[in-house]
Amino acid sequence: MEYHVRDLQLAELGKRRIEWAERDMPVLRSIRERFAKEKPFVGVRISACLHVTTETANLMITLKEGGAEVFLTASNPLSTQDDVAAALVHYFGIPVFAIKGEDRDTYYSHLHAVIRKEPHIVIDDGADLISTLHREYPQLAQKILGGMEETTTGVIRLRAMAERGVLLFPVIAVNDAMTKHMFDNRYGTGQSTIDGILRATNRLIAGSTFVVAGYGWCGKGVAQRARGMGATVVVTEVDPIKALEAKMDGFLVMPMIEAAKIGDFFVTVTGNTSVIREEHFKVMKDGAIISNAGHFDVEIDIKALEKLSVGKREVRNFVEEYTLYDGRRIYLLAQGRLVNLASAEGHPASVMDMSFANQALCAEYILKHHSQLERKVYKVPREIDTQVAQLKLASMGVQIDQLTPEQLSYLSSWEIGT
Ligand code: NAD
Ligand code: SAH
Repeated sequence: MEYHVRDLQLAELGKRRIEWAERDMPVLRSIRERFAKEKPFVGVRISACLHVTTETANLMITLKEGGAEVFLTASNPLSTQDDVAAALVHYFGIPVFAIKGEDRDTYYSHLHAVIRKEPHIVIDDGADLISTLHREYPQLAQKILGGMEETTTGVIRLRAMAERGVLLFPVIAVNDAMTKHMFDNRYGTGQSTIDGILRATNRLIAGSTFVVAGYGWCGKGVAQRARGMGATVVVTEVDPIKALEAKMDGFLVMPMIEAAKIGDFFVTVTGNTSVIREEHFKVMKDGAIISNAGHFDVEIDIKALEKLSVGKREVRNFVEEYTLYDGRRIYLLAQGRLVNLASAEGHPASVMDMSFANQALCAEYILKHHSQLERKVYKVPREIDTQVAQLKLASMGVQIDQLTPEQLSYLSSWEIGT
């Protein structure tokens, strides 16, 4: 079997951690049990580009139990859990191509390795796999039945491809399922970003000024959790509606140039580029801690930070100290890459349970419906979204009301007024 992981000796640890995550993924487990009986994916090859974590391992195992031949590469050079990669190879016979801290060339060579398996279905997180397929393997791309995309920025990139008429197969925007972004992006990013900052710095959040750039689903989660830990939270935005929402949710709202002067911690979660840049570094306090939980490593302009610096050294794992021309120090976490996945373990299993249940059910949907799908970006079918919510509620022991016949007829009537 072809694979590329750091060390197979780590497999035992990885297996135990995969099992620990599995205990908190009841929705995915119920899908896995059905797949194991029905084997919907026999003869199907699936290549996935996802963070190599314990939660992703459970998705890969689910698809394999459904009969698929699966291949996994990392969606970020820093997020791979080497023990999980080893366990997937050693105990589950799943080829993995991922090593934590791999350089850019290795990262792309791993993408090529899973593309060369000639998949029928692809799963992406950030659209690197799908864009590489389109750029370098258009003949293989033509043959793909469909794909799924896990994250906000990936969906934006794929919509741009569809609008320009260059997308060669249908893609389902898993991120846009309500049971994905309302929970994964908000509660997952909220908790795991704070976790990443704490593991990297071990600093006290209570009493600090905590700046969150972007008040989308992720930003709301991070802002809420930072407030919960006792910080004064400042939100920066470019969208007037989101800014108003942040203000009415009780946060301070101001431009980054003002926030930069007062922040102790900074987190960017915008999906945009150069959100913290030269003009901001110039006014930051000595000791400011900056990090990113949004897409890729472009939200913080690291080149500008380097230009302003006279020295740089690693002071703790995932903490780089930049000494500026005037002696101030700025601490950059996880090289500006996703802090929650680089210095912590990403979102907890309970929330990935819903994201990956959507992925598993969408893979099955593509297999059944690919002949009716066009080369477009599709929403997750409503039935899948609802089913995931129902299964999650059931696993939590929560019951809800049903509409009565009278209510059903009232909601579809127009005659009855005041
Ligand atoms: P979103 O579209 O809901 O929110 C992004 C927000 O950023 C928007 O409100 C937008 O107006 C704002 N914004 C854009 N440019 C800005 C700027 N210059 N300054 C301030 N605000 C700005 O997206 P989301 O679902 O919250 O995702 C945000 C990013 O996080 C995406 O790149 C997504 O892929 C990524 N993401 C990361 C994780 C993780 O585990 N770290 C999880 C989910 C999503
Ligand atoms: N390639 C991009 C990926 C964006 S990451 C980059 O490197 O910047 C954002 C995605 O990570 C989210 O949509 C979320 O679903 C996923 N994620 C968060 N925690 C995870 C975990 N524990 N396991 C797998 N994926 C996770």
